[in-house]
Amino acid sequence: MNEKPSTPNALTVGILALQGAYEAHAKTLTTLGISTKLIRTPDELFTPDGRPSVDGLIIPGGESTTMLKFLERNGFLDILTTFVQTTPTFGTCAGAILLAKDVQHPAQTSLAALDITVERNAYGRQIDSTILVAPTELPGGPLEMVFIRAPRITRTGPEVETLATRDGFPVLVRQGNLLAATFHPELSADARVHQLFLDLIRAHTTPISDRILMPSLRPAQ
Ligand code: GLN
Repeated sequence: MNEKPSTPNALTVGILALQGAYEAHAKTLTTLGISTKLIRTPDELFTPDGRPSVDGLIIPGGESTTMLKFLERNGFLDILTTFVQTTPTFGTCAGAILLAKDVQHPAQTSLAALDITVERNAYGRQIDSTILVAPTELPGGPLEMVFIRAPRITRTGPEVETLATRDGFPVLVRQGNLLAATFHPELSADARVHQLFLDLIRAHTTPISDRILMPSLRPAQ
């Protein structure tokens, strides 16, 4: 049966698998007991009756320009633009660039869903790839963050919440159903950022009144 898997304990998360670090996301989700579905065509995002085929989607890191080349075929970009407006989506690095409303350095097309401005390849050559361990808004202490030719978020809109920063610039942000990281959480053993995304998906399937605070951000009882 092609039922939308919406029961909180049986989530299926799609991973855009056109290019980039999609396998590592699949591995992390598998360790968390979550079913994954690699998405390579627009059809795979929806069931035959037009409902989303996955509870949430990850757009991985890689090369946003290359991903765009694939997305510009078969109307995939338009379909994905609609999809991310209604279904929880997590973009990492190149995925964050694709989600951003405004992309600079150079400017390029995007899904324009997340109210941020990103500057691509914003870190100088020597520090363009680095691993930091820094505090975040997530419970559980400092978080390892792997940056690879990362973009810099230079503006966040009023609806955007910043959950971690690097040198004063946001590196992990959330807005409604959308989560974005300019680093690669799938390359660290710590699965808290993926867990946060799963919490966001679960909150999406619960009444609005329960969505105010994500479960993983609730203070310990
Ligand atoms: N520099 C890449 C881009 O502009 C992003 C790098 C990454 O995803 N690690 O798309």
